[in-house]
Amino acid sequence: MADCERCGKKGRLTLVEIAGARLYVCQDCGKHGKPVQEPRPIVPAYTSKTSSRAPVPKPDAMTNRELELADDFNVRIQRARERKGWSREDLGKKMSERVSIISKLENGEMRPSDDLIRKLERTLDIKLMEPVSDVRVQGSSASQGLTLGDLITRKRA
Ligand SMILES: [Zn+2]
Repeated sequence: MADCERCGKKGRLTLVEIAGARLYVCQDCGKHGKPVQEPRPIVPAYTSKTSSRAPVPKPDAMTNRELELADDFNVRIQRARERKGWSREDLGKKMSERVSIISKLENGEMRPSDDLIRKLERTLDIKLMEPVSDVRVQGSSASQGLTLGDLITRKRA
């Protein structure tokens, strides 16, 4: 049994509204208030503020893909080409692409389209795509074993 929140008497309590405040009161005190059917869940103001400030994952075009173009795709293209002993002209001919395209790719000035990526991978026998999450996680050894939440907490601390 709980105590009446108005008079402190023990007994069967009901939730009523008295002068704008919701109290669990005894039968006697309940006569002074307006009966309330359902206790409204009280949401602290700071909870909603915190959740709205929480970082939301950026809607990224790559998010729904398993693979993305490797950051060092230009190095991979150049190394693979040189391994085969081809000039940029040779590679361009084999791929039916202009030399200027090959140069831009190897200089990192241009990102290959999906079609071009497939053609490069086939022609040079390399992989230009890599798993998105693995690369990001392995990129920073300091973040290993930490969740995103841990990182945020540390930054704020
Ligand atoms: Zn009472």
